[in-house]
Amino acid sequence: MIIKIYNAYIIDPFTDKEAVADIVVENGIISRLIFKSQALSLKPDTKPSALNIKPDLIEIDARGLYVFPGLIDMHAHLREPGYEYKETIRTGTLAAVKGGFTSVCCMANTNPVNDNPEVTYYILAKANEEGNCDVYPIGAITKGLKGEELSEMAMLRQAGCVAFSDDGMPVMNAMIMRRALEYSKAVGAPIISHCEDLFLSENGAMNEGKLSFYMGLKGIPRAAEEVMVARDIILCKHFHAPLHIAHVSTKGSVDLIKKAKEEGVPVTAETCPHYFSLTEEAVRDYNTNAKVNPPLRTEQDREAIKEALKEAVVDVIATDHAPHSLDDKNTPFQEAANGISGLETALALSLKLVHDKVLTLRQLIEKFTVNPANILKINKSGIKEKAEADLIVVDINRQWTVKKEEFVSMGKNTPFDGWQLKGKVLMTVKGRKFFNMWQEDK
Ligand SMILES: [Zn+2]
Repeated sequence: MIIKIYNAYIIDPFTDKEAVADIVVENGIISRLIFKSQALSLKPDTKPSALNIKPDLIEIDARGLYVFPGLIDMHAHLREPGYEYKETIRTGTLAAVKGGFTSVCCMANTNPVNDNPEVTYYILAKANEEGNCDVYPIGAITKGLKGEELSEMAMLRQAGCVAFSDDGMPVMNAMIMRRALEYSKAVGAPIISHCEDLFLSENGAMNEGKLSFYMGLKGIPRAAEEVMVARDIILCKHFHAPLHIAHVSTKGSVDLIKKAKEEGVPVTAETCPHYFSLTEEAVRDYNTNAKVNPPLRTEQDREAIKEALKEAVVDVIATDHAPHSLDDKNTPFQEAANGISGLETALALSLKLVHDKVLTLRQLIEKFTVNPANILKINKSGIKEKAEADLIVVDINRQWTVKKEEFVSMGKNTPFDGWQLKGKVLMTVKGRKFFNMWQEDK
């Protein structure tokens, strides 16, 4: 199979190239990459592009389209093993490539928990057999995510884990967190911290404030997150071990991370599209599809998150893809599972930051590619000759409507159903595999 992409506007933060080019992919490898005169057009025009498919050859006139390296999602839940009724590695990675992700890091809260190498090997073998893209397991910090006893971190690292996290459960004991940070530094993979003080969040179901009071729901104060962000930053500072803060949702967390970075503390952070696309208003009608942990916050927090992305206080956009079955969500609000099926909407929701001039396109792509790769030490070569093809073709202006029933993820739990979004992945090429979403457009 040969794929020829002409006149694509490439933005590749890995090779630091940004220009119009022709790309030829043969048998999964980029065989030719020809950059054209910068003068040709620095800004893609809006001429319609064309796709021509023959049995062994795909030709794309990509004028007006962009080509980016395949995106990396450093925070997803693929649910396998143990919760295959919510998602499998096959369906989760299919949702990934549809959303433009060619690398997915999967959290350890499976059943059994990924706290020993057997589970890591199982995930990697399954991904190899049935996966549609690269899968990087994240090992548990503590055995059974119980927060009591460290997992075999060195063995997990050796088995292929790229980071450690008890995501879903915070490590409440500061001494255990200290030891975890020290071990993680020794084995060369960061701790990804789900920051939540369980005593402060105490079975809360949404952000604590006027709205939770009005709705009669128990709230989770911002302090539940910020207390732990502060604690982990202090531990990170004292023991100088790599720390990554997961799904930042509050202005207070942003302020703490900003100050820590200014002091040279080796902390990095991520947020998710829902924290800059929505506020707590999304749960006003008890919509369980907008129930997430940490909860959606206020407009002030949303603005602070956007500013933090702009100022590079938040380094990464991750999905926290958390697919659930209908039964997990069709319950009273307090009991509903937390999470959004996020892989298929993440890029388009994030492109709004570019359309609204919060971020440049280059900055946005950095947060989806080179930044997570650097934090996790995932070796990616970007778009260059003789490298494996790992790229996406994107129309950043194409309008589409989110229809949850069209999700390829088994999780249809999205608060964005019916939303009009701008920006669509038309094709994902990952080695010899390619996924053509072009033809789905009516
Ligand atoms: Zn989490």
